[in-house]
Amino acid sequence: MDPSSIIFIVFMGVVVLVYFIFSGRGRRAGRNVCTRCSGTGEVNEKWPDPNAPGGWHRLEGVCPKCKGKGRVN
Ligand SMILES: [Zn+2]
Repeated sequence: MDPSSIIFIVFMGVVVLVYFIFSGRGRRAGRNVCTRCSGTGEVNEKWPDPNAPGGWHRLEGVCPKCKGKGRVN
């Protein structure tokens, strides 16, 4: 095995490692994951809201923040 292929394998290993670190961090910290639906793309919200009709804030289904994608930019 020549040195260039070893460097390539090490480089690919680093790329995979970095990818897994960043994807795991994104899920935990929520940097790009939608904070409203936690990345699910769907919401099921209900809380008292004096400004809403009926006095309750109600929202079920597609998340309005990320529009169902589960991620925000
Ligand atoms: Zn969302």
